[in-house]
Amino acid sequence: MTDTTTPVRPGRLIINGEAVDAASGRTFTTSNPATEAPICEVAEAGAEDVERAARAARAAFASGPWPRMRPAERQRILFRLGDLILEHGDELGRLETLDNGKPIFESRQIDVPMAANCFHYFAGWATRLAGETLPVSPAFFTYTLREPLGVVAAIIPWNFPMIMVGWKCAPALAAGNTVILKPAELTPLTAIRIGELALEAGLPPGVLNVLPGPGGVAGEALVRHPGVDKVTFTGSTAVGQRIMRLAADTVKPVTLELGGKSPNIVFADADLDAAVRGAATGIFYGKGEVCAAGSRLLVEASIHTEFVAKLVERAKKLQPADPLDPKTRLGALVSEAQMKKVLGCVENGVAEGARLVAGGRRQPVDGKGWFVQATVLDAVENRMRVAQEEIFGPVLAVIPFDGVDDAVAKGNDVLYGLAAGVWTKDVKKAHAVARRLQAGTVWVNAYNFYDAGMPFGGFKQSGFGRDLGPECLHEVTQVKSVWVNLE
Ligand code: NAP
Ligand code: MG
Repeated sequence: MTDTTTPVRPGRLIINGEAVDAASGRTFTTSNPATEAPICEVAEAGAEDVERAARAARAAFASGPWPRMRPAERQRILFRLGDLILEHGDELGRLETLDNGKPIFESRQIDVPMAANCFHYFAGWATRLAGETLPVSPAFFTYTLREPLGVVAAIIPWNFPMIMVGWKCAPALAAGNTVILKPAELTPLTAIRIGELALEAGLPPGVLNVLPGPGGVAGEALVRHPGVDKVTFTGSTAVGQRIMRLAADTVKPVTLELGGKSPNIVFADADLDAAVRGAATGIFYGKGEVCAAGSRLLVEASIHTEFVAKLVERAKKLQPADPLDPKTRLGALVSEAQMKKVLGCVENGVAEGARLVAGGRRQPVDGKGWFVQATVLDAVENRMRVAQEEIFGPVLAVIPFDGVDDAVAKGNDVLYGLAAGVWTKDVKKAHAVARRLQAGTVWVNAYNFYDAGMPFGGFKQSGFGRDLGPECLHEVTQVKSVWVNLE
């Protein structure tokens, strides 16, 4: 099924502007979740490579041209990188689909433009980042400088590898930092390729280093390294907690984007057909391996039966298929382990008393791959594990509610607070509920919209700090107050 005609080059580390092997000479195999076949070997970064990258990034920050060049020049280079991502869209889209298993429709039409959008948008901020003059006393000229932090480590997950490169690297680079990027071992290929394109765009050596390697080794070494000034992380809550603890030793600031169990709330007065589409894309887009997935569908009791019937019909039409086929809308989960975890969650939900009304099983394509059917569990109660714990797969838990207060109470009754959806034609209700939900993003009559210009991040145990938007620039800069005595 999947195109194996064009071979993929082995992946190497990028340190100080050069593609290099790991100091240990070790490699690992990255494979295609849709065919279970290996794609290529990738150099495996270890502690020694972290040391080399940290030295290169430090030198590039302390004495290289990047933080010193005119911001307009940094802007030009980052904008060029955005253009190169678009120019290489077919190649990057294919790599992402081979490595992650997501449909080429998503990689090519959503992920490539979004990654480019980040570099285009934050390029503009290079010339807009500024301090303030603050009138404190006639005896002083007082002003602030907004300065880069230094060396930023970006540790990213496997669900949106290319988009995460944009989210994490573009703002850090625009502000004049240098970056060490550690992609997830399961999906290193697009991060490496964008690292190469960055050099082509004119990023000086050492400004963006890319270190594929195991989280417990390369990731931890980055977090511990005294020469790394900041860690920005997206991934699981457990790893985020560990990073926060480890970062304390060197008092490193961290930005954490963690898991979610986001409520997608449908009121009886909603446009039901639109809400059914929104409920389905809210959970099945990206195979449900989406931190902000609308994985808890809260439906007002009076429309519950009718709504679930429509949703089930839609879920059954959404068949797993070859991710490289442009018509495919449901790809393969990223790994066998992830597939087993997801199927285990479904089993557990049924054991807890939920009713399986669509999907629920593995469905190989041409006899292979970690594909799972679009799955709907009905009659879920909010206290069940299937309603409280992140599944990270195409599994929807449907929970009925009665009225606004019950919707808000159930929506908020979870440790996470990443995102939420609200479906209603009543504009007052929409705004009122949006205010009451504990979530970093609320979509009204929409779901899963993102833009480089709009901040994204968590309330509660979904993390802190923000990616994207003007807001995220606070995460990658620090402020210096300057007092000049005029007397
Ligand atoms: P993960 O295991 O937390 O991994 C994320 C990244 O951290 C990977 O690069 C991983 O490396 C690395 N890592 C693992 N252990 C580490 C350690 N001890 N020290 C430093 N780095 C370490 O998460 P995942 O399984 O890849 O992704 C799924 C999870 O991410 C889900 O729970 C999901 O909710 C969350 N997520 C959140 C967001 C958000 O924006 N809030 C977005 C996407 C995903 P290796 O994998 O190479 O070992
Ligand atoms: Mg992992």
